Amino acid sequence: MRFDRGIRLAGLLSCLLFAPGLWAAGGPFSAIHSQLAGLSLDPAQTYHVRDVRLARGDITIYLNDGVLSFASPVAGKVVGAVFSCVGTDTGDAEVLVMPPGRGERASLAYYTKSPNLDEHFKEAIFLFSDDTLHDVLRQIQQGVVHTVPEEARKLAPQWSEMLRNIAGDLEVPLAESLLNNDPPQLGLFYGLIAGQTLHRFDVIYQPHLEESVTVGSIVDQNNTPIFRVWTSFAPRRRAPPPPDPFTLSHFRIDATIHPDLSMSAVTDFRVTPHVAGRQVLSLEISNRMRVTSASISGQPAEVFQPESIRGSDEFGVSSFLVISPHPLVTGEPVQVEIQHTGSVIQNNGGGVFFVGARNVWFPHRPNDSSTFDLTFRCPSNLQVVSTGKLASDQVIGDVRTVHRVLTSPAEFAGFNLGDFESTTVDHGPFRIECFANRALLASIARDGSTSGAEQRLHEISNETASLLDQYSAMWGPLPIHNVAITPIPGTFGQGFPGLIYLSTLTYLSRDERPPQYQSPLMDIFFSDLLLAHEVAHQWWGNLITPADYRSDWLMEALANYSALQLVERRKGHAEFQQAMIHFRDELIKRDSSGKPVDSTGPVDLGVRLLESTDADAWRVITYDKGTWVMRMLCRRMGTDSFAKFLKQIVEDYAGKQLSNEDFRKLASRFMPVDDPDHTLEFFFDTWVYGSGIPTLALKPAKAQNGEYVLEQTDVDPGFAADVPVIIEAAGEPVVVKWIRSSSDGASFRVPRGAKVTLPAPEDFLYVKQAEPARFRNSISH
Ligand SMILES: [Zn+2]
Repeated sequence: MRFDRGIRLAGLLSCLLFAPGLWAAGGPFSAIHSQLAGLSLDPAQTYHVRDVRLARGDITIYLNDGVLSFASPVAGKVVGAVFSCVGTDTGDAEVLVMPPGRGERASLAYYTKSPNLDEHFKEAIFLFSDDTLHDVLRQIQQGVVHTVPEEARKLAPQWSEMLRNIAGDLEVPLAESLLNNDPPQLGLFYGLIAGQTLHRFDVIYQPHLEESVTVGSIVDQNNTPIFRVWTSFAPRRRAPPPPDPFTLSHFRIDATIHPDLSMSAVTDFRVTPHVAGRQVLSLEISNRMRVTSASISGQPAEVFQPESIRGSDEFGVSSFLVISPHPLVTGEPVQVEIQHTGSVIQNNGGGVFFVGARNVWFPHRPNDSSTFDLTFRCPSNLQVVSTGKLASDQVIGDVRTVHRVLTSPAEFAGFNLGDFESTTVDHGPFRIECFANRALLASIARDGSTSGAEQRLHEISNETASLLDQYSAMWGPLPIHNVAITPIPGTFGQGFPGLIYLSTLTYLSRDERPPQYQSPLMDIFFSDLLLAHEVAHQWWGNLITPADYRSDWLMEALANYSALQLVERRKGHAEFQQAMIHFRDELIKRDSSGKPVDSTGPVDLGVRLLESTDADAWRVITYDKGTWVMRMLCRRMGTDSFAKFLKQIVEDYAGKQLSNEDFRKLASRFMPVDDPDHTLEFFFDTWVYGSGIPTLALKPAKAQNGEYVLEQTDVDPGFAADVPVIIEAAGEPVVVKWIRSSSDGASFRVPRGAKVTLPAPEDFLYVKQAEPARFRNSISH
């Protein structure tokens, strides 16, 4: 799984305490830090502005009439300003943002009740590393320049501290841009607006990102402030984003897990610069890890890791900066070493440990693939397992040292820790290691013998071997040959390259699980689906990685649908149908606002769904809707073509990133030639880029002449889907006719006397009118 979105943002007009990070004083960063901390309004650069227009991407700001007071410079550059027209009759300002595309307009409407942003305001703070100062001066010099120094003195008491706080919260992106000497067209722009109806929100332009325009606001979610994205998109007219400034590779991590489970580690890696003159490396790490020092090619480097909660994403990951003493030279790699400490492991008691921050425990950058050389030291009574092939495992005194090596590049490297028993099986090209908690195994060895426990480990190893065989036959070989299955407390799993975290409940048979996890559906999930899903992630998510947050769902959907197809083969169609209907029922279930969970947003919103008001929407839409999209695509393409299509993805995209449009275009090559939507553009608009699950009914319009109407309800009026209607006429082969649904009803004609039916409930995502919904308990992945 990947979590990066590139936007970690600030909040407006809220008092936040800004805790300074850590840096070596005297370097280029510390000068910027102290100037940002001392920002003040500059009376000599305070203007009465009228009809000033600021256009950034698809964000347009009109400062119709008011006072604009610029701040004192930072690194010789003006980076801040305050706008106010409070207390004047004619004062006004306005911001306009019109997202392209239905999905983004719907997302904006979900949070603001309008698909376009058009908001008047009287106060705002602007922070920027672009040419905003000269942009404004050019416009006001065409009229008569009014400096109004006394206005700066009036604004200062209310605004100076707030400006400094916001600048502090944005210190990572601002300092990065200033130290890298971004040219004006690549500078950042943040508008922090006090809107008249929408209250406080941010408009953000980050031209180095593909989706350079973002609008959103800070909200409190379970007592934690989070930045909620209202809309994020690539503007209609734009230059392509600049190349990635550098890549990371050749990771070597030496980590010591102390008896109190805290960790101290040294991570070193190679940085290859691709853009001249860059001086700052922006990296990510879990908030639970503190970076204590860094060096570049053996020379001490400044480090800045703010403690701002607002700098974090939904998963507690935040950016930090390593500042090189000299600009880096394109194509000349440097060796970076970072020391970090923290607590990412929790003791659940009874010899069971929970490793949090599973893929963010070391400094990294999303999207970079690397080899890994991993050394772990831990108390000798515990075992540690990680990604990679075991090179050595020795105990000296009370310290165990484990060395593992991953030679095929991967984006992630995880580890797990516990008081384990294990088995190792060599199977074809694979070495399969299966680990289980010793205490858990003891509890299922009823007669006190260890044979039951050993048998369980062997069952899981054999099952893994069988899954690897089946998937390898379907999709082709894996570059990794070492797969370790390890337990994790909770009701979920996670699949890293060669390392699978498996819910401890999957180690138990139905009768051994707690009562709330005993049901036919829980059986499918814990006994059949979970391991098959996680093993499938070795291909979907690790060998092939998603191109961006919008295509994360593809990996979950492909892993889950593939696993479910194996369940069908083993357990039969009824089990498969039960699971598909359960997924549908979770999607149409009403949330606290009375709307179906599915209506929260399209599946391509990815992790942004976590910011919605429905806590479960991300899981339900990513997994359940995603599985449904694959099911409908498989039915539409045909099972054989779908299997060939998946194999082709692996052939074309192994070691590469896959986007939604890559997926659609490749899928269209496997569609039947006579399919009315063989490009799948309409299919993607309906099911991937849009939301809605229709209730459908077939009604004869005129019984005599074979005219029917397909009626659609329970969706927005603009919803339309191609519905496979089944037509059986006497003496004719059964045909499927694609009828495009509409809220006005879609009429079509069939041969007189033919039988017309809607698709089976496991073949197409809809509710048959008058069919009772079957809500069941939900399970979490
Ligand atoms: Zn998954």
